[in-house]
Amino acid sequence: MNYRRLGSTGLQISELSFGAWVTFGDQIGQEMAERLMRVAFDAGVNYFDNAESYSGGKAETIMGNVFKNAGWARETFVVSTKFYWGLRETVNQRNTLNRKYLLEAINGSLKRLQLDYVDIVFAHRPDPDTPIAETVWAMHKLIESDKALYWGTSEWSAYEIVSAIYLAEKYHLHKPVTEQSHYNMFTREKLEKEYLRLFQEHHYGDVIWSPLASGFLSGKYNDGIPADSRAAQPGYEWLQKTFTSAERIDKVKQLAPIASDLGATMAQLAIAWCLKNPYLSSVILGASRPEQLQENLGARAIAPLLTPETLERIENVLQNKPR
Ligand code: NDP
Repeated sequence: MNYRRLGSTGLQISELSFGAWVTFGDQIGQEMAERLMRVAFDAGVNYFDNAESYSGGKAETIMGNVFKNAGWARETFVVSTKFYWGLRETVNQRNTLNRKYLLEAINGSLKRLQLDYVDIVFAHRPDPDTPIAETVWAMHKLIESDKALYWGTSEWSAYEIVSAIYLAEKYHLHKPVTEQSHYNMFTREKLEKEYLRLFQEHHYGDVIWSPLASGFLSGKYNDGIPADSRAAQPGYEWLQKTFTSAERIDKVKQLAPIASDLGATMAQLAIAWCLKNPYLSSVILGASRPEQLQENLGARAIAPLLTPETLERIENVLQNKPR
């Protein structure tokens, strides 16, 4: 496994990591989650991602039980959680990054994860109703109280991130150090265009999510929606619209021969392609079964095979490089 620095910090995280969205608590239970996390850890994955809202808190509980059962030394893994959506339909507890919510939410997450601290805490979305300065102060407080070591943003605009960085510098507070962004062969604009100066001038980190576009880039949706797939899960029917797009399916079909020329699966090609982005600290993988995770971890060996010529072949199919 290769380890990359998280932005400008000294923290090193595995370039392939593992997250809990959709799967932990909804699709899979304790036993399967433990099998998956052990597969990841044994392959050198040291970074695990979660969020307060995943499966209404169950995903954190399951992950916390795995940390405990596995008995891994706390120094050997990095864990993140995210706050914004909240767990209760109550004022100040939902869709907010205000100080009250953030300072209370961390206690629930630490309890579910059975940990004294998380390594990274993310603002899961920007909150237009809370001054950015208030969120920066609250995140600073979480770090100063030893409940988190670093903080980051998820799906914030470059403007919002730079505002947070400048406010933190102005008041000598802990700055956000990384984004957690949606990035894959079909979703490129933010990372390859909007954030470029953020990476180059502020050395901001980025750990990216949905590298397979929720599984679509594995090619499993080329002939319809498999009954046991994410898009068939209750509550995720919204994925079906993009997953039945003839244009996108055609692109996945055209990418398949490029993958097989490299001796790779389509999922491995799509993940390896993400790894080629030099600004990424980690690609967060998702999996509902161990075979998927084993396959996806194999993308590490494919990334060095992506020569400029192969990347050009891929661009010719995708036709979506941000200008
Ligand atoms: P992917 O795009 O890689 O999708 C993972 C899903 O695709 C799996 O659960 C599985 O679903 C399917 N899949 C994975 N590998 C294969 C394979 N080899 N062959 C066939 N199907 C496969 O990643 P996620 O969308 O899960 O995102 C990864 C992580 O990123 C999340 O767990 C979470 O931690 C984080 N995240 C963060 C967000 C944010 O807002 N910050 C938002 C979303 C995710 P199935 O078997 O059910 O079809």
